Amino acid sequence: MSTAQHPPRTVEALLADGTTVSIRPLGPSDRAAVLDLHETRMSDDSRRLRFFGASRRAPQLAADRLCGPPRGDLLALGAWAGGELVGEADCETAPGHPETAELALAVADDWHHRGVATLLLEHLVHAARQNGIRTFEADTLADNRAVHRVFADLGLPVRRRFEQGEIRLRVPLDEADERYREAVDERGRSADVASLAALLRPASVAVVGASRRPGSVGQSVLSKIRQAGFTGELWPVNPYAAEVAGERAYPSLSTLPGTPDLAVLAVPPVVVAGAAEECGQAGVRALVVLTSGLDADAARRLMHACRRHSMRLVGPNSLGIAQTDPGIRLDAEFGGAFPVSGTAGVAVQSGGVGIALLERLAWLGIGVSSFVSLGDKYDVSGNDLLQWWESDGRTDLALLHLESFGNPRAFSRTARRVTRRFPILTVDAGRSPAGRRGAASHTAAAATPTVTRETLFRQAGITATRSLAELVDTAALLHSQPLPSARCAVAVVSNAGGVGILAADACADTGLTQLELPGDLTAELRDLLPGGASTVNPVDTTAAVTPDQLAACIDTLARSRAVDALLVCLVPTALTAAAQDDPVRALLDGPARRRVPLAAVLLSQEVPVRLLTCADGGRIPSYTDPQDAARALAHARDRARWLAEPPSPEAAAPPGCDPEGARRLADAFLTANPDGGWLDPALTVELFDCYGLPLTISIWAPDEHGAVIAARSLRELGHRCEVVLKAYWPGQVHKSVAGAVRTGLAADGQVRQAFREFTERFGHRLTGVVVQPMAAPGLELLAGVVQDRVFGPLVLLGLGGTATEVLADRSARLAPLTERDLATMPTELRGSVLLSGHQGAAAVDLAAVRDVLARLSHLAADLPQLAELDLNPLIARPDGVLCVDARVRLEPRPSFDPYLRRLRRPAATEED
Ligand code: ADP
Ligand code: MG
Repeated sequence: MSTAQHPPRTVEALLADGTTVSIRPLGPSDRAAVLDLHETRMSDDSRRLRFFGASRRAPQLAADRLCGPPRGDLLALGAWAGGELVGEADCETAPGHPETAELALAVADDWHHRGVATLLLEHLVHAARQNGIRTFEADTLADNRAVHRVFADLGLPVRRRFEQGEIRLRVPLDEADERYREAVDERGRSADVASLAALLRPASVAVVGASRRPGSVGQSVLSKIRQAGFTGELWPVNPYAAEVAGERAYPSLSTLPGTPDLAVLAVPPVVVAGAAEECGQAGVRALVVLTSGLDADAARRLMHACRRHSMRLVGPNSLGIAQTDPGIRLDAEFGGAFPVSGTAGVAVQSGGVGIALLERLAWLGIGVSSFVSLGDKYDVSGNDLLQWWESDGRTDLALLHLESFGNPRAFSRTARRVTRRFPILTVDAGRSPAGRRGAASHTAAAATPTVTRETLFRQAGITATRSLAELVDTAALLHSQPLPSARCAVAVVSNAGGVGILAADACADTGLTQLELPGDLTAELRDLLPGGASTVNPVDTTAAVTPDQLAACIDTLARSRAVDALLVCLVPTALTAAAQDDPVRALLDGPARRRVPLAAVLLSQEVPVRLLTCADGGRIPSYTDPQDAARALAHARDRARWLAEPPSPEAAAPPGCDPEGARRLADAFLTANPDGGWLDPALTVELFDCYGLPLTISIWAPDEHGAVIAARSLRELGHRCEVVLKAYWPGQVHKSVAGAVRTGLAADGQVRQAFREFTERFGHRLTGVVVQPMAAPGLELLAGVVQDRVFGPLVLLGLGGTATEVLADRSARLAPLTERDLATMPTELRGSVLLSGHQGAAAVDLAAVRDVLARLSHLAADLPQLAELDLNPLIARPDGVLCVDARVRLEPRPSFDPYLRRLRRPAATEED
């Protein structure tokens, strides 16, 4: 184990009660703090439990041991709150036993029962595993209930052995599996929610920078808070005015009659950090920073104040927040009107989008539970809000507008859990290159490439829409209608045949199944509709239909087990000019139809989407355009399908994967090439061997003679008598375009000829050739991994060969792949029939394709230094798969555990 792998870097995380602590390795400069912790901040009894006795020298010895110069056999972490050391956890290996470490823990008495030990342990487990430690051991006194409790709740298996009043604990770290992750998740969720209470359920709010100038942000927020009827205390802070907007103002935070839970900052950028520090010192627990345009120094200082004083932060550059809970009624934003109380949680990165979204929800009559404009998202993010809504007992629909992701893997894990309870809708922002540039300059965080993001949304069960309008269309449906079954066979009804056909086309365009009405249903409809009606799908009632007939028709369809969803398209006609004949009445007065989702298309409607209110109080979304209705239904269908799929286990590692070998290879390569780079053909073969990836025999030959010998040896091995020669030089990109691939070489003479041509063409750049047997023809696929710095590894499968870019037919998943991913990736290619057997050709060996995907997923997860890997082509045949061209690029990169509990550190606020 080496300390080099664990640089002294501070991370911040939340305790169980929502307090922020910093965690970092202990060093020589911490000696006084460590001594103080053990000597004065622990009672005699705590010390007895910690040191098994009352030796007066014990604290000294502990401080010496933990705070010496860095040692290879010791990992020691301290937890700091407000600059004070409140706990310590360390582990030490004995000589010759690098895989087992003796564990020790100490927490200041007044910090017990707040999760300090557990949090330290989580971080120590992480550091220890990175350093090759596989087991923690600890001796504890039998009456040390606190420590036994910590271990029992940790989520790791603990083996106990009793020995005369002492209990020897053994904690195998290798078994840190899904159960452990879930335990960590649960602690993370409750700590997060606890920390957000000051923000979203404050009892008192200070508005700092509440200006007297009408129209100013501070003034406007103050008035809005008051107008909305905030139920708590409201204190304007303004050093220059005794009164602001009719409210008594206070010159500073320290002069307030109490400590505000939340402070809203509307001060100029240069004073934001100072104001935040003042808030922290006054004991404020959360900040909403409306100010924008902070420079790097101000950003750093703002962040520092928040972390040091344990304040959660929304913004900067936020439009504000709104909490509609009747018990709170906080409207701390300067956008539009205070939203009506309801069940939609809304979080947006862009304030403008926030205003637009709230306005449209108001038109629809969809109420909001809480609204947060995240702004530049230094701290509070979409992930925090999902966890809040998951537990607030009010939210049943989440609407997110995100331009960038801090920790997409953690977000995805949260979303997967939350979306089982209620739909999460998002606008996929920053798709186009122009959109992405906009996103980058707008939020100071680079937006992420489309495919990766779409993959994340799909895997996490998030409903991703392509525009704000589509988001609202879909929200209207999901908010008001039951989900369809996963099959989602749609029946269309219209009172004007042409419109019905448009709707049917829209269903076809969005991939919705159109129901073929069963005979008995057709007969039933024929009995109740006017003569001349068409009773196959799309059902055309004709314009002569009465509201009663129409209602009966809709009810008959809605009751039928064959129908999974209904699209009802209505046009006012001359026949229905009288109000009592309005066909919409049939929709609204009809008995409640709650079994299947129903969407209306009213072509004469003036707004694109509305929620109609039925006689029984139920609501029905109605669209102007059948396309919008169909798309919303398709989203509902996708959600139903996602929910119907039970969670699939991670794909098991196929036999013959050697992570250790791959790591050694990568370490050696990166030592020789500190900036990383492409592996040469020989190293590529070696890496592929470590993971059992099926690469064809590739013999390296530095010269013509070597190439001929290699070709002969291949023939002697009994391969097809033809070989392939590929010219190689460091840094080469695509070989065939450059004329660096010669296939079908049968005789020595042809091999020599090819080599000479390479020498002529590539000159001194050529360092040698790769000689391969000619592979039997098959379907050329592409399989590969791209490592995204933020999202992690993305595994791809597609149609391959030299035309792969033109075909652009690919399926992608973020690693780790599940068993279901292995099954579905090949089937979701547009050209999947080519794999399953086309025009008499036999199906390719799909099990072998899946095996390659599983190996890639594990390789990518085990080797964070793997920047990109490309198998193209992977030749797939009925009797197996074989790769004839592989490229691998490694990059120096520390491993990163996305699930370790820690608060965000956006680049803009980075201290080092
Ligand atoms: P690049 O992708 O760099 O252009 P490849 O090594 O993939 O070079 O070769 C290009 C094409 O040549 C492949 O898509 C494949 O069709 C064919 N090819 C290459 N190597 C072999 C081989 N060993 N057996 C059969 N065909 C091959
Ligand atoms: Mg290739």
